[in-house]
Amino acid sequence: MKDQNPADGTLAAQAPYTDTSDVGNYINGKVSVSTDGRRQDVYNPSLGKVARQLVLSTAQDVDAAVASARAAAPGWANTTPLRRARVLNKFLRLMEDHVDELAAMITAEHGKVFTDAQGEVARGIDVIEFACGIPQLLKGDYTEQVSNGIDNWTMRQPLGVVAGVTPFNFPCMVPCWMFPVALAAGNAFILKPSERDPSVSLLMARLLKEAGLPDGVFNVVQGDKVVVDALLEHPDVAAISFVGSTPIAQYIYERGAHFGKRVQALGGAKNHMIIMPDADIERTVDALVGAAYGSAGERCMAISVAVLVGSAGEKILPALKARAASLKIKDGMHLDAEMGPVVTREALQRIEGYIQTGVEQGADLLVDGRQLKIEGHEEGFYIGGTLFDNVTPDMRIYKEEIFGPVLACVHVDDLGAAVDLINAHEFANGVSCFTSDGHTAREFARRIQVGMVGVNVPIPVPMAWHGFGGWKRSLFGDMHAYGEEGVRFYTKQKSVMQRWPEDISKGNAFVMPTM
Ligand code: NAD
Repeated sequence: MKDQNPADGTLAAQAPYTDTSDVGNYINGKVSVSTDGRRQDVYNPSLGKVARQLVLSTAQDVDAAVASARAAAPGWANTTPLRRARVLNKFLRLMEDHVDELAAMITAEHGKVFTDAQGEVARGIDVIEFACGIPQLLKGDYTEQVSNGIDNWTMRQPLGVVAGVTPFNFPCMVPCWMFPVALAAGNAFILKPSERDPSVSLLMARLLKEAGLPDGVFNVVQGDKVVVDALLEHPDVAAISFVGSTPIAQYIYERGAHFGKRVQALGGAKNHMIIMPDADIERTVDALVGAAYGSAGERCMAISVAVLVGSAGEKILPALKARAASLKIKDGMHLDAEMGPVVTREALQRIEGYIQTGVEQGADLLVDGRQLKIEGHEEGFYIGGTLFDNVTPDMRIYKEEIFGPVLACVHVDDLGAAVDLINAHEFANGVSCFTSDGHTAREFARRIQVGMVGVNVPIPVPMAWHGFGGWKRSLFGDMHAYGEEGVRFYTKQKSVMQRWPEDISKGNAFVMPTM
């Protein structure tokens, strides 16, 4: 047992979330909890105990949700963009009023620290705010007089019923990457949240109703693969947005395409941070520790590999080791907690397994987070920050996504070698470079084959109006989440060509019209 749990700090003013009732669906404006069928435990990871149970839905539940969405979709699509935006605007204010309640739910079921959960909700709200600008975003193009007496314009219309399948690690923010934009564009939406932390989805559904969203326009169906497969196969679901691990993302993309759906499927990651010898060491260590161990490394944009260029290694490693070994790890409702538990016992075992593999494959284990026990939380899914040095590209801890608080350090000679190393990896979600040289930064940003790039920014999650998405096996599909790409994803273009001649000409035209 190690002491990574210094004296208790202040507790958040918000009470911990402790609802023990069964988690059900939200269909056609009503919460329903089935008393039979399969169930799955929802844990409080900090205590390592079952907090409540989730009723796993069936294909019939999906049918009911799709039918309700399908019935509501035409009326919502016909509602003016400004009125739709006003509903979202009210929802935005309600979300702001409930930040702490939402954050406490996230901390209770995910384990991340309360202050980080508040940040998650804030980033979700950013996208709602973006979606409130939908009247401007839906403006089409118009060309007058493309031929004699003919005007041509484009408009973007909603797809109808669309669905989102989301991961455990951002139960508020990732759904918010999807449904505010989809709803603003005039679609009806079905959310299939992660079964590990489902409570936030139902609070958001309630707030949407309070904001004036008509029943049926937003539905939540809890469950697992059974629900996802039913959504993929349902002929009335026009598009699926997915965020989760790469094997499932690929499955969703292929299966969705097979059934003729539009699909965007965001997958896993292995994000690198290049540290140049000229980087400001203190700032870089701060940034790296937060990016590697924040949310216990359970972020798709977490930094899991530090690429130490030349003498950067000897400069940074002593401070990095000290910080990794002294993280404040405790229940997330403590305001000074830097890291909470990981989400499940299986996740804990998987991460511990990777640490063992790293040791067996010859990496140097500088800080070992295994066997961490937190007083009063002995059954909790806690693991300490873990640091490996001298990791090489052939090792599993380099190649695979661990999704835990494990940072691997790799040494290279120069920027070119760092860029080549990163460009050879199968994942390409986020990347960062810390340097004090503008030319290095520019070359890095131009040559790196990764979707989201940070220069002296460790976690470059794009703002709501820029869109989020990786490259290679971190994203299947051609449109990123939210931003203008999100608007395009949830709408289809129609081109209208119109002539109102004074005297409609008679006769057939057998040749292509020319200008
Ligand atoms: P996951 O892939 O296990 O689950 C994601 C969703 O898919 C859940 O709703 C789950 O119920 C469903 N699902 C799981 N197995 C399925 C199956 N066999 N068939 C159909 N549906 C299935 O992912 P997770 O563990 O919840 O989340 C962590 C993963 O998500 C990590 O790999 C992380 O990198 C990734 N992630 C990526 C991004 C991104 O933007 N690229 C963002 C967040 C998380």
